[in-house]
Amino acid sequence: MIDPHIAFQEILNHVAPLSPIALSLTEAMGLVLAEEVRAEENYPPFAASTVDGWAVVAADDSPRRRILEGSGLAGEVPQAHVVPGTAARVMTGAPLPPGSDAVVMREDSVEEGEFVRFTRAVRPGENVRPAGSDIAAGTIVLKAGTPLGPAEIGLLATVGRFSVRVHPRPRVAVLSTGDELVEPWEVPGPGQIRDSNRYALIAAVRQAGGEVVHSGRVSDRAEDLQEEVRRALEEADVLITSGGVSEGDRDLVGVVLSELGIVHFRRVRQKPGKPLTFATVGGKPCFALPGNPVSALVSFELYVRPALRRMAGHTLLRRPEVEVRLRHPVRPDPARVEFVRAVVEREENQWWARTTGSQASSRLLSLTGANALLRIPPGPPLPEGAVVSAILLAWPEDH
Ligand code: AMP
Ligand code: MG
Repeated sequence: MIDPHIAFQEILNHVAPLSPIALSLTEAMGLVLAEEVRAEENYPPFAASTVDGWAVVAADDSPRRRILEGSGLAGEVPQAHVVPGTAARVMTGAPLPPGSDAVVMREDSVEEGEFVRFTRAVRPGENVRPAGSDIAAGTIVLKAGTPLGPAEIGLLATVGRFSVRVHPRPRVAVLSTGDELVEPWEVPGPGQIRDSNRYALIAAVRQAGGEVVHSGRVSDRAEDLQEEVRRALEEADVLITSGGVSEGDRDLVGVVLSELGIVHFRRVRQKPGKPLTFATVGGKPCFALPGNPVSALVSFELYVRPALRRMAGHTLLRRPEVEVRLRHPVRPDPARVEFVRAVVEREENQWWARTTGSQASSRLLSLTGANALLRIPPGPPLPEGAVVSAILLAWPEDH
């Protein structure tokens, strides 16, 4: 049995970012950039007006100016040549007409037939966005390793990159093991239960940025399992199984994985999720998660999600962790660190946590609605108000 931080490190030793692929901007959201991106050109490419108004020569102090022909719309090439005594109509985003060096807002002007008079003095450069003022040609705008969100996608489009190199989503296989399992739409017979782990883990993989390429349910026969694991790994970069790793199952999955590859550890000193087995088969990481639904999801959160993120090229692998105060007493486990499901709220500049009731590892209701896992190390009972560490699964609502 090993400690959680050793297990985490051991897993990271066996996972690496996947080789980059080229994808279009419409497919790259959420993925991690695998190249440095440089702007080849200035942005904006031309000096542009930032308001609707009049392009003028700022140094000109004529009391009124003759209006030059032209609508000055964005997307038009300005025809007017602005000289002292004249003004050209210009709209937001339109190029500054030649000769002009400032724009007077329409709100600061009065049109008088062929002429326009300004109600304010003009400063050079006013209401003008110079060429290259947002991005100068040659600037590195995005570094390799940047996760792509809407702003980054927009920036790539701005600099003319429609295809970019990114780390792909890890391709994941999810297998449930257990002779007792039936599908969600089936009515369980005597001794049977519905397979919830497969669906919960598929959802967790997607939420963590992975792509599920194979999923299924396997019996508790070693030959079946071996066959399914082989088949799953033909397509997938990562295998996740649930069940068949507790003592009563004679560790069926661990045995099969040790026949096909290398088992790195079989037990982690934590609760829930003690019987977590980690192996590599042909270099591919395989996570044999415990069968109890809460154990499976908590193990996924603590170990599989960070591994998937690393494969996807992320360097920030873990959730944020904050100190919280307990709303009620908590009794730690005598020997293992416990990851207690909780609801964390912020109140008057302080984080508060209440647990989600019975923490039985079969009770999925302890996870529904939880937004944090409290990290409770072994030790004496913790009173109300005690400070503990909380892994935030979702950002708490402000109260
Ligand atoms: P095991 O690790 O196979 O001994 O399973 C531990 C507990 O989790 C048993 O009560 C199983 O019935 C239950 N379990 C295993 N697999 C699943 C699953 N896919 N969905 C729901 N419960 C499961
Ligand atoms: Mg089982």
